Amino acid sequence: MVGLLVDDQSVAAAPEGSVVQVVLDRTPFYAEAGGQQADTGMLRGGDFTVRIDDVQSPVAGLRVHRGVVTAGTVTLDASVVAEVDKGRRAAISRAHTATHLVHAGVRNALGTSAAQAGSLNAPGRLRFDFTSPTGAVAPAALSDIEDEINSVLQENREVEAYETSMDEARKLGAMMLFGEKYGDRVRVVDMGEYSRELCGGTHVARTGEIGLVKVLSEASIGSGVRRVDALVGLDAFQYMSKEHLLVSQLADQLKSRPEDLPDRISGLVERLRNAERDLEKHREEAVLASAGALAAGAEDIDGVLLVAAAAPDGVPGNDLRALASDVRGRLGTRPGVVALFSSAGDKLSFVVATTEAARRDGLAAGKLVPSFAAAIGGRGGGKAELAQGGGTNPAGVPQAVTALRAALRDGGAAAGARASG
Ligand SMILES: [Zn+2]
Repeated sequence: MVGLLVDDQSVAAAPEGSVVQVVLDRTPFYAEAGGQQADTGMLRGGDFTVRIDDVQSPVAGLRVHRGVVTAGTVTLDASVVAEVDKGRRAAISRAHTATHLVHAGVRNALGTSAAQAGSLNAPGRLRFDFTSPTGAVAPAALSDIEDEINSVLQENREVEAYETSMDEARKLGAMMLFGEKYGDRVRVVDMGEYSRELCGGTHVARTGEIGLVKVLSEASIGSGVRRVDALVGLDAFQYMSKEHLLVSQLADQLKSRPEDLPDRISGLVERLRNAERDLEKHREEAVLASAGALAAGAEDIDGVLLVAAAAPDGVPGNDLRALASDVRGRLGTRPGVVALFSSAGDKLSFVVATTEAARRDGLAAGKLVPSFAAAIGGRGGGKAELAQGGGTNPAGVPQAVTALRAALRDGGAAAGARASG
């Protein structure tokens, strides 16, 4: 161990539980680079262990292992055995080789102006970003790319990595990233003529090890750059297996063959839309019909027509206003008050509306609310022509109606007094 840091400060020892950064004179750990995720693993000393969660390379040639001391005390001069999590590394390597294949497949399909703009190689999945000269990749083209990649897996091509000069790499036609700085000596990763790329990452020995590549999506991530997301190996298989199960369940539920599902579902959606339209029409008709019945049942309170009632079943609270306005319209030019109540569970909403003649007689909807609000445990208010509110006691509606009648008698008497005086 040649470097040991806690909180970015060099230390001689770090006890169990410390978050540490460790530098070794040599290491098998891969530091995050070129889209490939860092290795994880363990450092084991005589009487201590450090779990490594991340490895970064802040300057070329230096690899900083970040992790936690999980047992014992780490000392600066200790020797360690460095163990990379091999399963994870293998999964990342499969994703990285698959990324090169996606790169080659995309260029074969879209032309060489489709250039890599970024990538991610994680266990079981990959992301490949590229500038697309033609915008979105058509689903059929994407499917062809996927087919091509998977047939290269089946060919089980050897994946070779070798160092060569930059000139030689250019002559071989190796793909290199625009804007990336390369030295005179470069590392080429080669899968025969199918893919040849400059790359410092880890790879499988033969393409067959990847098993399967399943492209999940292709989408824009802005300014002419597209992103392909794909699953690799067992993760790809499990995804497809789950999708298959899902389709089987849907086919079962809809009593349809899997290949007929799209037609079956669009047929169902169409029927549902028509049914909803019919239902809405019937509901409107029912509301209109109830408006007529409510207006016809108006009682005369000292010359003021009063319609006070619970809204008919099927009239939702938010349609109360429309219904109250409709009933009011049917009361014509006479003084009239409409008060409608609608309950849902232990909640109640109400609307009060007045005709123009009622307002001329001094009856304001908003001022009528306090006369009955107590009976329904409610409150609300509004203008002279329309007021609304809510309550918590639906059982109190009959008392509320009685209270409103009484208020109209007072108001009517006042109006009458005003008319005669
Ligand atoms: Zn690479």
